[in-house]
Amino acid sequence: MRDPFTNHSFLVTKENKGRGKNVSNRHLTRREFLKLCGTGCCALSVAQLFGLPNTLRAQRPQKGLIKTKLSPYFTSLGGGRIQCELCPRRCLVPKGERGFCRVRENRDGQYYSLVYGNPCAIHLDPIEKKPFFHVLPATTSFSIATAGCNFRCKFCQNWEISQAFPEDVYNYEVPPEIMVTKAKEMGAHSVAYTYVEPVIFYEYMVDIGYFVKKAGLLNVMHSNGFINPDPLRDLCKVLDAANIDLKGFTEKFYRELCDGELNPVLETLKTLKQEKIHVEITNLVIPTKNDDMAVVKTMCLWVNKELGADTPIHFSRFYPLYKLRNLPPTPVSTLEKARAVALSSGLEYVYIGNVPGHEGENTFCPRCKKMIIQRIGYMIGEMHLEKGKCAYCGKPIPGIWM
Ligand code: SF4
Repeated sequence: MRDPFTNHSFLVTKENKGRGKNVSNRHLTRREFLKLCGTGCCALSVAQLFGLPNTLRAQRPQKGLIKTKLSPYFTSLGGGRIQCELCPRRCLVPKGERGFCRVRENRDGQYYSLVYGNPCAIHLDPIEKKPFFHVLPATTSFSIATAGCNFRCKFCQNWEISQAFPEDVYNYEVPPEIMVTKAKEMGAHSVAYTYVEPVIFYEYMVDIGYFVKKAGLLNVMHSNGFINPDPLRDLCKVLDAANIDLKGFTEKFYRELCDGELNPVLETLKTLKQEKIHVEITNLVIPTKNDDMAVVKTMCLWVNKELGADTPIHFSRFYPLYKLRNLPPTPVSTLEKARAVALSSGLEYVYIGNVPGHEGENTFCPRCKKMIIQRIGYMIGEMHLEKGKCAYCGKPIPGIWM
């Protein structure tokens, strides 16, 4: 049996339960830093330690567990046919059939989510792993996913669940309010909707989101940004931060490698900014596919103009998997070039991802140029922030800080 907890797990110990509570706005001692590195780098299945609440303690993930909820975003077309209005794909779905994302079904002319309350992945992760570098550093995020996706990326890291039907994976039964209880018990400061495209479990995400806000935690999402404006604006009522994959900057890239479209993603980014949601961007740099520095330059200039120079951007290293196993990992020098291009385009917070220990993981103050957050992989070393400002020169740093 495939255990849905085995990917990307993070050791839950007394030490890192409530990780980060006492590390903001000051330096870690060397001993504290090494202790954090030690615990964070160990990988142990959360399933072994998950300790579900009383109501769920005896629960085992079940294959074929489906929970449904009526979607608020569809139009009846007559004759039992419907059109989904959740994402720009706008699937036309006859009676008894499903949309492209595999998790929405037309039952007698009504459109249902099939993943409301049945996640297949639940992990306690460092928030840096999402990645969010400007949201509560050194805290943990209770991270969840269901099966399904509205893209078909050939380089997907989580294709085993993103390209699956909900019947084909092992699911837990976790109602929204229980998810929040567990997140709090585990000392998480946020709940993250991640691993697959969270838009496809929209109803579940929004309902969890309301409980999360009530409990005083943050809602954070890592998304492909492929969502229609109305559901996005509704989601923004509970959302605090979004990391949006800007996978490339040409329609050709989106069409050929993702079976998606670029333009709606750009609209999502603009809407999130208008709604005052904290936004970070991830660009996975894939050799020969989207590593043309002229295109990277065009993308960075667009980000600067439309979203602002203070939008953090992560250039992430590709490793060969799924349908692009024939390509090599991204050379670090390519990521460094992309970072240099972004900085020369005026972007102020430019990161290199998936290269632990690289200087490009750190945050530098754009005004005094001093390092204000030191990172090694997902671990935080030094922090020189005071109430969201550079401790050296007082410049406000965008983000959500303790
Ligand atoms: S959310 Fe799913 S069913 Fe709806 S339009 Fe997008 S891919 Fe199609």
